[in-house]
Amino acid sequence: MSTISIAQGTDVLNYIGGKWEKSNSSEILDVINPATKEVLGHVPMSRVSDVEAAVKAAEAVFPDWRRTPPGDRVQYLFAIKQMLEDNINDIARTLVMENGKTLTEAKGELRRAIENVEVACGIPMLMQGYNLEDIAHGIDEIMIRQPVGIVAAITPFNFPGMIPFWYLPYAIACGNCFILKPSERVPMTMQHIFRLMEPLNLPKGVLGLVNGGRETVDALLDHLKVRAISFVGSTPVAKYIYSRAAANGKRVQCQGGAKNHAIVLPDADLGVASKVVAESAFACAGQRCLAVSVAITVGDARTKFRDAVSDVASSFKVGYGLDEDVRMGPVITPASRSRIEDLIDKGHHDGAKLVRDGRNPKMSKYESGNFVGPTILDDVPAGSELPSTEIFGPVLSLVHANSLEDAIRILGASEYGNAASLFTSNGATARRFKYEAPAGNIGINVGVAAPIAYFPFSGWKASFFGDLHAQGRDGVEFYTEKKVVVERWA
Ligand code: NAD
Repeated sequence: MSTISIAQGTDVLNYIGGKWEKSNSSEILDVINPATKEVLGHVPMSRVSDVEAAVKAAEAVFPDWRRTPPGDRVQYLFAIKQMLEDNINDIARTLVMENGKTLTEAKGELRRAIENVEVACGIPMLMQGYNLEDIAHGIDEIMIRQPVGIVAAITPFNFPGMIPFWYLPYAIACGNCFILKPSERVPMTMQHIFRLMEPLNLPKGVLGLVNGGRETVDALLDHLKVRAISFVGSTPVAKYIYSRAAANGKRVQCQGGAKNHAIVLPDADLGVASKVVAESAFACAGQRCLAVSVAITVGDARTKFRDAVSDVASSFKVGYGLDEDVRMGPVITPASRSRIEDLIDKGHHDGAKLVRDGRNPKMSKYESGNFVGPTILDDVPAGSELPSTEIFGPVLSLVHANSLEDAIRILGASEYGNAASLFTSNGATARRFKYEAPAGNIGINVGVAAPIAYFPFSGWKASFFGDLHAQGRDGVEFYTEKKVVVERWA
């Protein structure tokens, strides 16, 4: 096991051509622990020239890397997997310090990162093409997959350890060179992981890390040599990146924001439903793109579910994610906290009843942290802002419907389509929901329908722009070009 860890006050560096480089930018932001408010480090807003250097390094190594047999390329992935396994506790601590989630949540997301590495280890099988003999007399046809070239990913703050691994392992296993631009609010986790990957001796330039913000992203979107862009973040930025990258002729996949609904029917096990919905709404402080944000109760489920979910919510201990027994950490920034508090206020003002008010939770430690406790509002008026806006905080809105049809209509009216869940004990009802619900990730008696790495992380409507998703076979499709060869050897 390595002893590398990220010390406080770290200057975040870029990793270019196998070397740690200071950015050419003089614009530097603080990386702040959202619970303790300590400054953890300083992150540069890298310039066009930094991106140029990373692309040049990738370009230099790409011809050799794509010729490296897939079976040899995946040996590096086996080493990455082992490194992540050996260092999961240390990396998780870095992640908690900069993101605020709990240590258990941090380890959970790193497990999904590891799982993606494991799937990409199957590239020698997954990357295979197909062929057909005798498409005409003496003529055969084959389809082969080749790497796309230099590819880049731009990732958000809420899963600093997992989301880069939706892309990195597939990209390099397929023979591409990969450049990551992590969120400037949480750059330390990938700094930590890249330091641990350094001794694994991947050919220099296969992996690049460029820290920064909008200018850095634009440089990647506009660079002619960058052939594909993967993005995860908010919908307005997803739309911007999708259109700019596509206009520059790149292959693009952009995951956007979300507003997820859970429908609770009277025949559901309300004990399970309340636990699972509360976990979905409040874990990771509600900062998950799969978090349930609106629960729609049908008929009799209304008061029973409200009381049960409120009881579960009161058991969530709010605090610093590194402290024992803490179930929910802070939200990422003071601005995010104020926005969430304003939305709660507005919802209450619009007529919703506050069942649990998580604003200004009493904290025995870390009083200055960005804490918002679990919040539940009932009878949230349809058409108000609360049930339609992505809150990205620990706030659950309860709305009511007379029937399953009405409930599906409510969730169908959302501009987003990331996830939707149904709680029922009736198989036929569940089948109907699975069939009709207009969302990409469906949960049946499940609150966070997070696809494991062998399945695509789907998402519909304003939650996704593109066609091929992250993870699994979609990842392999995205990172390879198909080439068809027709041969005559009479
Ligand atoms: P964000 O959109 O603010 O930032 C995401 C990335 O884009 C960051 O790397 C950031 O530096 C960059 N960026 C921000 N503004 C930019 C601009 N104007 N031009 C170019 N680049 C820009 O998102 P966030 O706050 O970091 O993450 C939260 C959002 O991500 C939520 O909306 C959440 O739903 C979404 N999310 C979606 C999924 C999914 O799978 N659909 C998964 C995780 C998070």
